[in-house]
Amino acid sequence: MSDERLVEDYHPATAAQRHLPASIVLWDETLRDGEQMPGVHFSPEEKLRIAERLSDAGVPLLNAGIPVVSEEEARAVKLVADAGLRAKVLAAGRTVAGDVDAVVRSGATHIAIFVAASNVHLRYKLKMTQDEVLQASVTTVRQAKDAGLHVAYVTEDTVRAPFDFVERLYRAVQEAGADRLVVADTVGIMTPLTFRWYLEEFVRRVRPKDLSVHCHNDFGLATANTLTAVECGATAPHVCVNGLGERAGNASLEEVVMGLESLYGVKTGIRTESLYELSQLVEELSGVPIAANKALVGYNAFSHEAGIHTHGILANTLTYEPLQPEVVGRRRQMILGKHTGKAALVEKLKERGITAPDPLLLELLRQVKTETESRSKADLQRFVEQYRTLFGRPGLSDTEFWAIVEAVGIRTGKA
Ligand code: MN
Repeated sequence: MSDERLVEDYHPATAAQRHLPASIVLWDETLRDGEQMPGVHFSPEEKLRIAERLSDAGVPLLNAGIPVVSEEEARAVKLVADAGLRAKVLAAGRTVAGDVDAVVRSGATHIAIFVAASNVHLRYKLKMTQDEVLQASVTTVRQAKDAGLHVAYVTEDTVRAPFDFVERLYRAVQEAGADRLVVADTVGIMTPLTFRWYLEEFVRRVRPKDLSVHCHNDFGLATANTLTAVECGATAPHVCVNGLGERAGNASLEEVVMGLESLYGVKTGIRTESLYELSQLVEELSGVPIAANKALVGYNAFSHEAGIHTHGILANTLTYEPLQPEVVGRRRQMILGKHTGKAALVEKLKERGITAPDPLLLELLRQVKTETESRSKADLQRFVEQYRTLFGRPGLSDTEFWAIVEAVGIRTGKA
């Protein structure tokens, strides 16, 4: 028995198919895409608090925001850029000269210049031709390079754009000096297999010096697709704490980090023990509660109740835990409830140095189950009700909006 391995690890069996980059530069988007989640807004001071924590956790690059959004946003980016963080600070802008100027003024050392690439975006949103998009991209990339910035070039909706255009566009901006090329799955429609095909084709056609990806979670695949991208050599995957972001959000920082560290043995440079604290801070400041069953940072991620599971965990945590909770700054919780078994009670009694004979143990077990089964769920149901009310209508209510319309002096047609 002694030389038998307790669990088999088949990840090495696929190692030859992975082309992991020599080093990973996690690119955090919590303060930009994360903040674009409906109803979420951070004050400049809150952005700074999150940025400091991200930087302390070892995140090497963070997007502080888009300075042209508002005066307050410009102040936020400047505050973060001037804070002397270990992390490099990036700010974003469109392919517009004024946007690049605003990033230069913000003091950020890195810029992400973005424009859309797919036909649907060009025709219905930008009302620009492919040549106009290419021209504006090349011009602003040059402008940013001349200003001494590290330039990442991003297209929205890259993976739904004609590949010939993507190739022409990205080759042109790389030639114009772009340091890093970002492929975006803006509406989250990639799957690991298709994304792998796409990125291999992208690498073959464009030959990026440095590849980055931006994955959304519309089908719950953001983390899987992001790991796929890293397997294809992407060095700078975009992530958001707690998977915040537009609609269903972005790839979550904690999932991508632990996927790389724990499953592939890749060093990300992140102090993983600080992940939970970071997650809690963003939960508080964003006002978006973490789902109880969210991987790694959800309340249940390291909780055990079922008798068979608890018994296994007490004997050896490897039975039902893929990693130790302390690795992400958490602790294991044993829950006493309907599904509890005898082993959990024996362990619990030990806390006070007590042992009990079997008949009493069985009676104790019966009463623990009865007690939790008959317990009211009213508190939880009230919480769900409140959650639905709060999240059912983020932002301004209609009443609030029309009051502002009137205050501004726009005639509403009503008396
Ligand atoms: Mn996005």
